[in-house]
Amino acid sequence: MFSPSLLKKFQGIETPFYYYDTKLLSDTLKAARKAAEKQDIELHYALKANANKGVLKLVKDSGFGADCVSGNEVKRAFESGFKAGKIVFAGVGKSDKEIRFAVQKNIFCFNAESIEELKVVNEIAKGENRTAQVALRINPNVNANTHRYITTGLEENKFGINSWELDESLNVLRKCKNIKLIGLHFHIGSQITDLSVYKTLCVKANELLQWFADKDIFIENINLGGGLGVDYHHPDEDPIPDFENYFGLFRKFLKPGSHIKMHLEPGRAIVAQCGSLISRVLFVKKGMQTNFVILDAGMTELLRPALYQSYHTIENLLGATRKGKYLYDVTGPICESSDCFRKAVELTETRRGDIIAIRTAGAYSESMSLDYNMRSRAKAYFTEDV
Ligand SMILES: *Cc1c(COP(=O)(O)O)cnc(C)c1O
Repeated sequence: MFSPSLLKKFQGIETPFYYYDTKLLSDTLKAARKAAEKQDIELHYALKANANKGVLKLVKDSGFGADCVSGNEVKRAFESGFKAGKIVFAGVGKSDKEIRFAVQKNIFCFNAESIEELKVVNEIAKGENRTAQVALRINPNVNANTHRYITTGLEENKFGINSWELDESLNVLRKCKNIKLIGLHFHIGSQITDLSVYKTLCVKANELLQWFADKDIFIENINLGGGLGVDYHHPDEDPIPDFENYFGLFRKFLKPGSHIKMHLEPGRAIVAQCGSLISRVLFVKKGMQTNFVILDAGMTELLRPALYQSYHTIENLLGATRKGKYLYDVTGPICESSDCFRKAVELTETRRGDIIAIRTAGAYSESMSLDYNMRSRAKAYFTEDV
């Protein structure tokens, strides 16, 4: 990913910064798009993975819709050129202001996460003299077998409407004249690598579709969310997720009537591998048991390791050809002990001023960045900008 000429350019840029490989992002989008067309699946990109304007432009130009989880994400989707008919809005706590904005903009669908939300969307739509399209986000109680902080589809999680609330949801829908049920929505978690959980999800979804059909309610759209994992351990060997296999699973196991449109919402799988966080070594410091490499990038630029012990491949780009391998704890400069990218990272001999790449940082990195410790926001560069 990093040619000598690219590394040379990196040396002239203030660190830390995010680097996005434009070609890899384009290739990933193409692969996803092609596989989705084959299975007749509509894709909505989850903005929360990375809402960088340059990323969104490429995503939009590839024909994706937008999956938003806040009013500002809905706004950003419009600014980036996504059409109202391709924008969906999920989230367990939408504010009145956010709902009103999205109602006025006539977005495709609210993925409603509680009975109370259905009533509030109805009230606000009534006030605006409109009908809002809604899907019920149902909590299917399926374990995604991923880190517990990014598991969302268990009954103990705050997300979605539980199955025992469906009768009451239907009563509310019958009474509310300014909302229209157009679909069912699920999203069970993120960084899912055990794909068998999607089969379990499909079985649940089939049961629910039947439950609605038995009541003469024919669902037009079924949205199975996102969550496809990427290979954090092998970013170069495995740069593009196997979308064909993933989308094929849904076609194989979901048994929707021919009138049902299928939707998916990948976020991480689209953008993770194209991004790297590039930083410089500030200091190499001897500890009791170990040596610390202290970078000028920290949890403020890449929160995932501190937040859920995630793994990222770390490479010393400048010292790549030096002899010998050593173990270092690679940390950031922030005043928190959790500000550590990984312990016992094997690197060539590492010195002050070396350029370090933290790989697979295109998803949930720039979008999660913080200004804690009064840090300046790191800039982002695409291949053509460096
Ligand atoms: C976060 C999220 C996604 C995307 O998840 P990834 O793991 O990044 O694919 C999709 N849908 C909803 C509702 C989400 O909250």
